Amino acid sequence: MQELAGLVRAVPDFPTTGVLFRDVSPLLASASAFARCIDALAEPWQGLGVQAVCGIEARGFIFGAALAQRLHAGFVPLRKPNKLPPPVLAVDYQLEYGSDRLEAQREAVRPGERVLLVDDVLATGGTLAAAAALADLLGAELVGASVVVELTALQGRTRWQQGTPLHSLLRY
Ligand code: IMP
Repeated sequence: MQELAGLVRAVPDFPTTGVLFRDVSPLLASASAFARCIDALAEPWQGLGVQAVCGIEARGFIFGAALAQRLHAGFVPLRKPNKLPPPVLAVDYQLEYGSDRLEAQREAVRPGERVLLVDDVLATGGTLAAAAALADLLGAELVGASVVVELTALQGRTRWQQGTPLHSLLRY
């Protein structure tokens, strides 16, 4: 895990002043680190019958698609507004300044299908909570969520639903 942690770059004042951005690009660029990261993301979910991995735009697509392959599951993109052709279901959520929306195609998941949510970073937790609400709207059975990086100071985990597993590989 230390090899992975060394490949997440801390970028001060990006995208705005005062923000310390965690950049997973060097981890993705390393064949061995990326493979180990997917192994570690998959490990808690082996044998739990995950049928679809829902990746959150955009870096959740990269980790999510690779993880779906490893778990022999399908992949469902959860996207920013107006990217997916209709019919779609949507969940709005609050950001520090303003709001955003996640959308999924209405028939992307069958009712009762066992889904796993994936993103690169858990910060305030609003995005992952919205993704969970969207999975619920789709009629999915939420098995849990995985993120590569958890920014613990922002306490995003407190916005996550009790009783549903949330795994993070690296915590800062
Ligand atoms: P939250 O909704 O505040 O938890 O923010 C999580 C979302 O913002 C995820 O989709 C991340 O991709 C993105 N994000 C927030 N902070 C960072 C960061 O430091 N590095 C990369 N992505 C981030």
